[in-house]
Amino acid sequence: MNAKQVTGSTNFQAPVRVGVLGFGGLGQAAARVLSLKQEMILVAAADKQGYAYAGDGLNAQECIAAYQSQGSVGYLEPTGTLTNFSIQDLIESPHHVDGYFLALPNLPNNFIASVAQQFIESGWRGVLVDAIKRTSAVEQLLGMKEELQAAGITYMTGCGATPGLLTAAAALAAQSYTEIHRVEITFGVGIANWEAYRATIREDIAHMPGFTVETARAMTDAQVEALLDKTHGVLTLENMEHADDVMLELAGIVDRDRVTVGGVVDTRNPKKPLSTNVKITGRTFEGKISTHTFTLGDETSMAANVCGPAFGYLKAGQQLHQRGMYGIFTAAEIMPQFVR
Ligand code: NAD
Repeated sequence: MNAKQVTGSTNFQAPVRVGVLGFGGLGQAAARVLSLKQEMILVAAADKQGYAYAGDGLNAQECIAAYQSQGSVGYLEPTGTLTNFSIQDLIESPHHVDGYFLALPNLPNNFIASVAQQFIESGWRGVLVDAIKRTSAVEQLLGMKEELQAAGITYMTGCGATPGLLTAAAALAAQSYTEIHRVEITFGVGIANWEAYRATIREDIAHMPGFTVETARAMTDAQVEALLDKTHGVLTLENMEHADDVMLELAGIVDRDRVTVGGVVDTRNPKKPLSTNVKITGRTFEGKISTHTFTLGDETSMAANVCGPAFGYLKAGQQLHQRGMYGIFTAAEIMPQFVR
């Protein structure tokens, strides 16, 4: 028996059955995170060419091995299915999944919204979590609030690192002030090679001067490599269109034009080029102007800082769903719950 069982002091609770859509850098990290948890179990994983489902739990290492050696989790025996419509086929199957983490590329910029639409149309009910980044992408999802509500879906958006963990930290830090002046997010990402996180790197390139989501999406791998050769593997990003702004505005904390996001990504060295941090500046009730700084440990990887919060928000979303609270929520308005 693979299934994990969680025992509390008085009651026994079945683990939350989780699916991971997208099995690239973040999807694989998500599977590894889940393998260390008791309250959640990985039952489904999907990539572009197929999906795997096992009611009593998928083995993360086996999924990763199949994906890396054969290109898809669909090759897994006997749990895999090869299909070019993996998301559609998985969500329309009778399989039991309580919540999904969408570790998918948002290329084009409405891709995740179109996946949310597929869930709405399928009649599936449960919790969805994304780690989406662009303001315009989060706004599309926010516009689907009523449809999500009517479908019985609790959708948690912007629940990675930034937006996500750092946005939530800003929301918490704001409590010391009566007036918020500025929220400044600066991230440092170090990865050994860009191929491990192709979508993340393409989406980052889309923020560079002279590029758009569409031009970055259309780049071949060789063109991405040529660009990275010119910059010695380093991408420096400023004034990014990041949804931390709309999320903090919606939560009533600060106007979006006072939120800035930028960072440095080194695609050739797992060491972070700088320490990821968020600075929250405001005025206290006594008239003092101050800045809180929340800095992530340099040893924590991008994957750790995205997947941890994503599942923390999935757990929070599950609690909302059980209370009949459907619709869409952001990382700035709900506290993530720690997953044991
Ligand atoms: P990746 O390129 O490594 O992997 C993408 C995966 O999605 C692949 O397994 C691919 O097969 C699968 N996929 C693509 N199209 C599909 C389809 N139509 N159906 C099913 N599967 C499909 O991606 P990544 O670098 O892990 O990034 C995933 C997302 O996470 C990106 O959108 C990125 O921007 C986001 N991200 C967010 C944060 C944050 O802090 N919020 C940080 C990093 C990355």
